[in-house]
Amino acid sequence: MTQRKILLVEDEEHLLKTIQLNLELEGYAVVSAITGIDALKEFRKQPFDLIILDVMLPEMNGFDVCEEIRKENAKVPVLFLTAKASSEDRITGLKLGADDYLTKPFNLEELLLRVQILLRRSSGSTEKSLDVYSFGNNQINFNTFEITDNKGEKREITKREIALLKLLIERKGDVVSREDILDRSMGNGCLSILTNNR
Ligand code: CA
Repeated sequence: MTQRKILLVEDEEHLLKTIQLNLELEGYAVVSAITGIDALKEFRKQPFDLIILDVMLPEMNGFDVCEEIRKENAKVPVLFLTAKASSEDRITGLKLGADDYLTKPFNLEELLLRVQILLRRSSGSTEKSLDVYSFGNNQINFNTFEITDNKGEKREITKREIALLKLLIERKGDVVSREDILDRSMGNGCLSILTNNR
């Protein structure tokens, strides 16, 4: 499996070094940036599998960085790190397209676990995109939202149904959690709000 690449943006040097070292020990390739401007420069140089983004940064804050990133890439998972814990900030982050949120001080194990989950969740969409899936004489076309049954009859299905089928096919043989199903069929972001309010 190819090494996953993470962009880590944090202006507290000690914290940056600690997180970077731990991510590298887990086998990830890490590029670091200490300001929002630098983060965007690095982001535009090469593709990343995940972005860990501190909110309070000099020059340009993490929310603004996330907004810029989302204009250019709707898919790359973004995990916010912040000292602020207010739900208003959390909601701002999620609205801007963050996928997860961790409040400082956090447990390193928890960070590594969340990184793993976000990367696993996104791997289906970044590694290769599925166009057509066949089983028996049935076929699902993910581009046209059409299914063809074993009698050759075509039928259109909804976007939500397509998203659900895609998830189940990508994770064939795995147990898929209710969270993952909701997340995929309702779109990223919605689930995070639901679970954070629990
Ligand atoms: Ca900071």
